[in-house]
Amino acid sequence: MSAAAATSAWMLGACGMGVGPLAIYLKGEGCEVSGWDDATGSPMELQLANADIPLLRDPWAAGRAPLVVGRSSAVKPGHPALALATAKGVRQLRRGELLAERVAERRFVAVCGSHGKTTTCGMIVAALASAGADFGYVLGGLFRDPTFPPARASATSPWVVAEVDESDGTIGAFSPDVTVAVNLDWDHPDYYRDEADLEGVFRALFERTRTAVVIPAGNERLERLTAGLRVPVLRVGPDGDYRARPVAGDHATSVLELGGRFPAGQVTLPVAGTFNRANAAMALAVAHLVTGGLAAEPMARWRGIRRRQDVLFEAKGLRVLADYAHHPTEIAALLQWIRETHQGRLVVVFQPHRHTRTRQYATEFRQALAVADYALVLPVYAAGEAAVEGGGSDAVVAGSAHRLVADRREIAPLLDGLSAGQDTVVAFVGAGDIERDAEAYAKLLRRRGADVLSRDLPDLVADRLSAGCVLRPNEPLARRTTLGIGGAARWYAEPATVDDVVALLRAAAELDLRYFVVGRGSNLLVPDDGYDGLVLHLAPEAWGKVEPLGEGRLRVGGGARLKELCGVAAREGLAGFEFLEGIPGTVGGSLRMNAGAMGGWIFDVVESIEWLTPQGRVRAARRDCFDALYRDCPQLHGGVVLSAVLRAAGRDEPAAIRARMDEMAARRRASQPREASAGCVFRNPEGDKAGRLIDASGLKGRAVGPVAVSPVHANFLVNGGDATAADFLALMRDVRAGVRAAAGVELQPEIVVLGREWRELL
Ligand SMILES: Cc1cc2nc3c(=O)[nH]c(=O)nc-3n(C[C@H](O)[C@H](O)[C@H](O)COP(=O)(O)OP(=O)(O)OC[C@H]3O[C@@H](n4cnc5c(N)ncnc54)[C@H](O)[C@@H]3O)c2cc1C
Repeated sequence: MSAAAATSAWMLGACGMGVGPLAIYLKGEGCEVSGWDDATGSPMELQLANADIPLLRDPWAAGRAPLVVGRSSAVKPGHPALALATAKGVRQLRRGELLAERVAERRFVAVCGSHGKTTTCGMIVAALASAGADFGYVLGGLFRDPTFPPARASATSPWVVAEVDESDGTIGAFSPDVTVAVNLDWDHPDYYRDEADLEGVFRALFERTRTAVVIPAGNERLERLTAGLRVPVLRVGPDGDYRARPVAGDHATSVLELGGRFPAGQVTLPVAGTFNRANAAMALAVAHLVTGGLAAEPMARWRGIRRRQDVLFEAKGLRVLADYAHHPTEIAALLQWIRETHQGRLVVVFQPHRHTRTRQYATEFRQALAVADYALVLPVYAAGEAAVEGGGSDAVVAGSAHRLVADRREIAPLLDGLSAGQDTVVAFVGAGDIERDAEAYAKLLRRRGADVLSRDLPDLVADRLSAGCVLRPNEPLARRTTLGIGGAARWYAEPATVDDVVALLRAAAELDLRYFVVGRGSNLLVPDDGYDGLVLHLAPEAWGKVEPLGEGRLRVGGGARLKELCGVAAREGLAGFEFLEGIPGTVGGSLRMNAGAMGGWIFDVVESIEWLTPQGRVRAARRDCFDALYRDCPQLHGGVVLSAVLRAAGRDEPAAIRARMDEMAARRRASQPREASAGCVFRNPEGDKAGRLIDASGLKGRAVGPVAVSPVHANFLVNGGDATAADFLALMRDVRAGVRAAAGVELQPEIVVLGREWRELL
């Protein structure tokens, strides 16, 4: 099966800037697409959600059957997802290879080079869109305007514009119609033997190009590599075939005078700086080549690319920006642009990207950073690489005044000191996760500006909550759990409407306050010191409805108890829900935990789920957009299940259904303890039962204070009185150690601990 004909793809590394847009492009071409990424929290997730692309750990288990797997080069052989794809016998292609197959029959415009590919590609998209052209595109990043998707397919036009990436060799798979080389510098020493090796790959791409190669005028290396091609080489620049000369501008705009192959005249660009103007001129040349003309204001809709000179904060003489620059040439160009357009002090926070590149360019990085008044250098972002000798951040700062900052908590106090008393630009620079530091610092400044620091949750939600919404401080949580253990929540809310939930989560985000949803608290351990955040509870009064929809379907609220669900199902003669009888949770908690019993689990009966994402968006999706894993559904982590539509397996007499439920309840009574518990504490290891292992290890009856291993079911730790979380944890550790010693098995917790990580506690 060739990828070109594939109708279903699973894209690994989908939250990254390479694979995410390609996934969206494939979806636009009509493929069924799902994705996966080990790292979450990327803004690409929003774009994937907008395109209805779910992130699935196992698409086959979710009911899909991908025919091709596309992967980022960062997803290395040996990754569990690739092992799964191999086991399923599915073709695996890297991003570049899959893209090359999809565009093989198209008029493909390949944007390549060392720096500015994404910006130039984005500018081509903007210029073509302004001209009203019909075309597809695949960006290697995100537009700053989130309403503009990073990829689009066209069913009616042969043209596709996309970046091709030289970093992993997949550039060799492309035979473009038009190749645009924005520049070329020595990079990727991890992949290419030497500069000649890299140059050879570019020369071969130029030779495979079918119609024209576009290069910047005066670039000696590219002149050499395009010499003697059989297709025309078109130069862009002040003295190029496409003539573009800067004639005016200020700190935010530039005016280019066009001539040569361009229609004569002037265009205004909403960008400043030499490299931005060069990229824009290249983009205009490509737009002209594709459409034969130019729109009157071809760049009027240009808002920029995320992480390229992003201004995150600006007030009172302080400007904070973030940029993706990660090669010395890019850093030099960026800092030159800042110096050209801003007066005052310049402070750079730099995170080197990859050890191999850091070793290659430590001296050049040090020199580029010297343009700043102060440079703080963070540890290298490894991007999956192992550390190499000479490839650490100490090599960048060696012998200079640049300062190594090993602990990122020092960044804000250092910047506060360095920016005091003078107009300052703080630039966060790098391609790793430094973006988060930039955003955190900007957020801190915004909070200070808005005086949010001195305010608390009720101030921020005062006018935004419905009359029915409960909001209380210092709420004891023990009675909100079946275990009856734990401290208080700093804030506790029972929202009455979706708007309440949204308002509470937004306010929590503004305050940097963590939040957590508690259902019935039947699979939950609350620490003794409680939770320094906001606990949300979807109370059954507002969220507990169970509503028959006809045709064997039920709409259930996120706060509905499974007991209520089973009651309605039995009354309505809907079979297939019996196994849920006796599980003391809510619908929301049971979906998040994929609760199950007697060989079934709740996802067996799910048709669709409506939930609020951690980003505060209400989404609804079908069953095949969720991984139903053993006691887990990753897509619901941090989200709030609002409601679900469930489907019965069939119809039966209510009395027969009730009888089966009664039988389930009797089996539970016989096999489970009556005392307070959180259900099964440990997950069943592959091919075995945690309860059996604990029992066989002689631990039944073991106790710490009032908490004991139940003699009825050894995987239940019961609270016989006024136990503390410390007692419970001590017994958990004891049981784990006992099973480890007796059976050599490391039990993993099934229950959730509020606001903490198990690895800190066990
Ligand atoms: C006696 C007993 C028997 C049990 N038997 C079983 C059994 O047979 N099978 C089984 O699978 N489990 C069993 N459990 C465990 C438990 O009942 C289930 O895991 C249940 O699904 C948890 O639901 P909850 O509402 O209590 O969730 P909670 O314990 O309140 O929360 C569990 C997780 O779900 C999240 N959550 C809660 N509500 C929502 C929401 N609306 N949206 C998003 N996330 C939410 C929480 O943030 C937390 O991460 C048993 C527990 C007890 C005490």
